[in-house]
Amino acid sequence: MTEGTPQSPAAHDSLHRRGLMFILSSPSGAGKTTIARKLLLAEPDLGLSVSATTRPIRAGEVDGRDYHFITQHAFDAMVEAGEFYEWARVFGNCYGTPKGQIRSGLKLGRDYLFDIDWQGTQQLHQKAEADVVRVFILPPSLDELRRRLEGRGTDSAEVIAARMARAQAEISHWDGYDYVVVNDDVETCFGKVQQILAAERMSRRRQTGLIDFVRELTRG
Ligand code: ADP
Ligand code: 5GP
Repeated sequence: MTEGTPQSPAAHDSLHRRGLMFILSSPSGAGKTTIARKLLLAEPDLGLSVSATTRPIRAGEVDGRDYHFITQHAFDAMVEAGEFYEWARVFGNCYGTPKGQIRSGLKLGRDYLFDIDWQGTQQLHQKAEADVVRVFILPPSLDELRRRLEGRGTDSAEVIAARMARAQAEISHWDGYDYVVVNDDVETCFGKVQQILAAERMSRRRQTGLIDFVRELTRG
């Protein structure tokens, strides 16, 4: 995934609007990263919020693209300095969402994708409810979830067992989301997530340019 400053929406929207924070969560292995990557490729106006983590880098991951891989000491310093929107401990490692340029970007109408778990989602929602859109991705079955974790080939049998043991607890947070999509077929799931983004971009309260536009429209 490419951390990005998304383009200004002015290029394709005539009305000014506030950006949104698009959160994708799922039990580990259900396909959140797969959907997020497709969304970023298809949506040039969507930037990625790259989290910081203390977990070791996996094969195929790139520092600064998938995560900012940092030491526990550096992570603690960022917590201390208030540089995270939110942070959580997951599977014994720390993960946090850096504030970075997101705050100013939202005002300019830029959208950001967040690939975070339910704890982070709750915290972000508490801090920025009006800007947040929460999407939860479910696997079609637990058997399929295990197959995907094994097929990904990135985790030891022990880690896969821990992820499976945690899956039911993670799934239980489905009702803390605005939208829930079952990831059976990737393309179908991706299409649905893309539709959610398109609709939320048109939400009345986000289109801050509407008042002036309608005033002009009805002037006579
Ligand atoms: P997460 O980010 O939720 O942990 P990933 O996106 O890494 O999950 O997906 C886990 C594995 O399942 C990956 O190998 C991915 O290619 C595969 N996968 C994702 N979605 C599907 C799907 N709809 N059908 C089959 N395999 C999938
Ligand atoms: P993984 O190690 O598989 O990349 O991620 C493990 C879990 O940590 C996933 O559920 C992922 O969503 C979550 N996660 C990643 N970044 C963040 C973050 O910045 N904050 C929180 N709260 N969770 C995160």
